[in-house]
Amino acid sequence: MTPLADVLLRRIALNGPISVADYMAECLLHPEHGYYSTRDPFGASGDFTTAPEISQMFGELIGLCLAQTWLDQGKPAAFALAELGPGRGTLMVDILRATKGVPGFHDATNIHLIEASETLRAIQRQSLSEQTVIWLDSVTDLPEIPLFLVANEFFDALPIRQFTRDTKGWREHQIAESDSTLQLGLSNPAPISALDHRLNDTNPGDVVETCAPGAGIASSIASRIADHGGAAVIFDYGDWRSLGDTLQALRHHKMESPLAHPGDADITAQVDFEALAKAATGVAVTPLTPQGVLLEQLGITLRARQLAENLSGDALKSHIAAHRRLTHMDEMGTLFKAIAFHPIGTNPPPGFAP
Ligand code: SAH
Repeated sequence: MTPLADVLLRRIALNGPISVADYMAECLLHPEHGYYSTRDPFGASGDFTTAPEISQMFGELIGLCLAQTWLDQGKPAAFALAELGPGRGTLMVDILRATKGVPGFHDATNIHLIEASETLRAIQRQSLSEQTVIWLDSVTDLPEIPLFLVANEFFDALPIRQFTRDTKGWREHQIAESDSTLQLGLSNPAPISALDHRLNDTNPGDVVETCAPGAGIASSIASRIADHGGAAVIFDYGDWRSLGDTLQALRHHKMESPLAHPGDADITAQVDFEALAKAATGVAVTPLTPQGVLLEQLGITLRARQLAENLSGDALKSHIAAHRRLTHMDEMGTLFKAIAFHPIGTNPPPGFAP
C-alpha cells in the first residue's frame, strides 16, 4: 500500500467516500505524497514522455506560432508569455530559443509559469536560469496585459468528476473503502442540471465526466485575451464531448488501475475540448485540430529535414522516430489535439483554420 492510500483510507473511514475529483487532486498534488509534489515524472526513467520532451521541434514551432500571432496583432509592447503546467520547462526553453530572432519579441516578453509543484518549480528554475520568470499559483493571478499562452498536457491533469447515467438521474462515482482497500462506489441517483445537455447523447449505463477547474481556467484565459489581446494554444489528449470512463493511471510507462498506487502513478483523464470552448466566452475559438495536422501546417517536416542535415547514425534514427511520434496518426498525431483562442476579428494563430 502507498503512504497516500493509507491517508485516504483513514479519511474515508472517518468521513465517508470521496469524489473522483478529490481522489485525483490528492493523488497528483497532496503536499507530502502527491505524484507531482514528490518527483520529476518525465522521460525514459519516469512514467511518461510528453511532446516537448520527445523533440525540440515541438516547442520551436509553437514559439514561432505565438511570435507570428504577436506580429499579426501589432506587436503589443508588453505582454505575458505564459505556460500552464510547464513540467521540466523544456517547452518554454525551446519557445525562447526559436523566437530569439524575432525583433522586439523578447524585449516585450514577461514570462509567467503557472505551476503547482514545488519540485517541478525547482527544475524549471534551473532550465530557465538565464531568464526572469514569475511563478504563479493560478491563472487568475496573471497581469491584466496581452496574454500569449501555451499549455501541453496540463488540462488532462485537472480533477474530473464522473457520473453514470441511471433511469432516475446520475450516480456520481466515488472512492470508498472495503476490506481496508480503496474501491469504486456509486452515489444514489439524482438529477443534475449541469448534465442536461448530455441527456441527448447518452443512454442509461453511460459514463460522462466534468472538469470544473478546466472550465474555470479556460474562462479566465479567454477573458484576458478578450480584454487585452493575445492568444492561447492548448494541446492535450481528448476529444470534442468525450464519452465514457477515461480516467487512466500510468506507472513506469504501463497502464494500471487508477486505484492501484495512489500518489505513485500519474493519473489523467481525456480533455473534453467542447467544455473548454464553451467556457471561453468573448473570444474566437478555432476548430479542434489534430496535433499531427497542426505540426505539419506549422512546417515540422521542413524543420525536421533541416535538423537531419547535421545528424547521422543513432541520433538521426531517433530524430526520425521523434518526428513520426509527434505527427503520425498511429502515435500522438490524432490522439492529441490542439485548440486556440484569439480575439474576435483577428486571424487565428498560424496552423489553425478560422
Ligand atoms: N507541460 C509539460 C508537463 C505536463 S505534466 C510537458 O508537456 O512536458 C502536468 C504539469 O502540470 C506538471 O508540471 C504539473 O505539476 C502541473 N500541474 C498539474 N496540476 C496543476 C494545477 N492544478 N495547477 C498548476 N499546475 C499543475
